[in-house]
Amino acid sequence: MAIEAVQYVGGALCLDFANTVSGHRDGEPKEYLNSYDDLLDWAAAGGAISRATPARLSDVARENRARATHVLAEAKELREAIYEVFLALADQRQPPAADLAKINAAIPDAYANLQLKARDGAFSLAWPSTTEELRAPVWPVVKSAVDLLLDGEVRLRACASDTCSWLFIDESKNHSRKWCSMRDCGNRAKVRRFRSVAQ
Ligand SMILES: [Zn+2]
Repeated sequence: MAIEAVQYVGGALCLDFANTVSGHRDGEPKEYLNSYDDLLDWAAAGGAISRATPARLSDVARENRARATHVLAEAKELREAIYEVFLALADQRQPPAADLAKINAAIPDAYANLQLKARDGAFSLAWPSTTEELRAPVWPVVKSAVDLLLDGEVRLRACASDTCSWLFIDESKNHSRKWCSMRDCGNRAKVRRFRSVAQ
């Protein structure tokens, strides 16, 4: 499935990363990240890495195919751990310890590469855009997961559709958002409701 079809509806980078699988994980999930370049494209389109970074990392990946394959596999394993942890929170369950451990294991690498930058009298903490480390697209995802877990105020939801496993932050006023996106799952539910009334 083309990476252009990916939507960023989660409200947090880590949830959008979990949403790079469409369809329900217990059914017939469709994978968006089929190559290391897909991971780069996803990260650039979602603002996780600067637009200048993908070309360089793509070159590095071409020269280190085995490592790029390994990094992609590792990223997907982390993605499933993120999915399980936030799904548990959406369902108001305790997150599985093994999945939380996988996020913990990714923290040192992601945070070790953060650097302070001074600009116009203010400081920011960011990753160097000149990095040649193939894991760079995953670092902001890890920090996003940590930040979201530390923010106890957020209302997490899993899409109400049986054929979707996307996660999102419910920012609706009355906390009633059911669908990942009204354009897709919400619209399909509306059409189904209309049909059942019309019959
Ligand atoms: Zn959905």
